[in-house]
Parts: sequence; C-alpha cells; structure tokens
Amino acid sequence: MKMTVNRIRVVVLGSPRSGKSAVVVRYLTKRYIGEYSSTGDFLYQHRVAFDGVVSEVEILDTSNCAIRGCLAEHVRWGDAFAVVYSVCERRSFLAAAELLSLLERTRLSGCAAVTLLGNKRDLEHAREVHAEEGQELSLRFGCQFYEVSAAESCAGAALAFHALLREARALALLLPAPRRKLAAYSVSKVIGTIFGKNSKSVRKKRPSLSI
Ligand code: GDP
Ligand code: MG
Repeated sequence: MKMTVNRIRVVVLGSPRSGKSAVVVRYLTKRYIGEYSSTGDFLYQHRVAFDGVVSEVEILDTSNCAIRGCLAEHVRWGDAFAVVYSVCERRSFLAAAELLSLLERTRLSGCAAVTLLGNKRDLEHAREVHAEEGQELSLRFGCQFYEVSAAESCAGAALAFHALLREARALALLLPAPRRKLAAYSVSKVIGTIFGKNSKSVRKKRPSLSI
C-alpha cells in the first residue's frame, strides 16, 4: 500500500490542573507519573501510522496560555485541538466552554478538528460535572467528546487522540492548508475581546521532546 506522510499540529488547551499534561503523557508514553512540570508549554513530536498513512504529529501541551498571552498564537498554529477539563471542577468545565466558543469564532466552522475531554473520571466521589453535560456541550459545538482518566488507564487517551487525528487527516484532505490558516486569521481580535489587552500574541521558545 502507498504510504503518504502528513503533518498534524495538535494543541492541548484547558484550565491549569485539569490534567492536560497527564493526558498527553499517557497518550504518548502509556505512563502516568502523577506530577508534571507546569512551567511552560511543551512540544512533543511523534510519528503515527494508521489506515495506511503516516502522520508526523506535533502535540503542544500548553500551560496558562490565556494569562501568558500566547493563546492567539496557539489557536493559529494548530490544526486540531483537545480541550481538557476536570470532571471534578466545574470552573474548568466553564473555561472549556469558553475555549470551544473561542475556537468556533476564530476558525471557520468545520476547519479544525476539536475534541472535548472530561478528565479525572476516576474521582467519581468528587465529580462536579455530569457526563451528560460534557456530551451536551460537545453537541452544541459539534466536536467530539470523551470522558477519560489519565490516572487510571491509557485506553481513553489513546482512543480520544486517535479519533482526533483521524478527523484532522480527513479535514486536511478536504481543505487545503491556506484555507485552514485563513480561517484562524481574526483570532487575536477575538481573544482580545475575551481576555483583555493582556493577551497580545508573544512568540516564545518552547522546550520540545521527540518520542
Ligand atoms: P495540567 O496543569 O492541566 O497540565 O494538569 P496536570 O497534568 O499537571 O495534572 C494536575 C494534577 O491532577 C496532577 O496532580 C495530576 O496527577 C492530577 N491528575 C491528572 N489527571 C488525573 C486523573 O485522571 N485522575 C486523577 N485522580 N488525578 C489526575
Ligand atoms: Mg501541564
């Protein structure tokens, strides 16, 4: 079978401590280590092959980007987005809704693959957000939705990332890159209205790791 190579840039967004790094590390290494550096963005690169196609995947695990002012740059950079919240923290769910709304307003509808991930489903006793609420939110924004537990298993994170990459590949075939990039054009303006003047786009050097 003929193998083609494409490149997919995934941005992982969400409130601090929702488990973004834990989910990414689970997906990439199958491991859960409990504590993760939170002092900046982390760029991971890896190659995945499925459905007869090889993808060079870059995953940007972000940290506090709404406050640090690099959200606009991240939204412009990505082809695919994973928006993470903690099922134990309603505030993180509200923040996820804001992020989905931002993505909808700044990318032409259907131009980016998006998944909503409700993490920490192992902490049932501390749950503040029902699965149905996540489901409803994803329906409202027409994105994928999974509840996962980075702490408990690899399966959820793997399934969610695979489905996201599959959709990103399909979009890349349907829409040429210039159109997708154009779709993210007005992003700084929209973020400015949401987060105030702090959110100017700043180019930062990111540590990166190849797996
Ligand atoms: P980030 O700031 O969004 O990157 O969050 P981290 O990945 O650093 O996780 C924040 C905290 O939540 C850490 O103490 C993790 O060990 C914990 N955590 C992450 N995912 C899970 C999970 O699925 N279940 C539980 N119980 N804890 C988790
Ligand atoms: Mg982190």
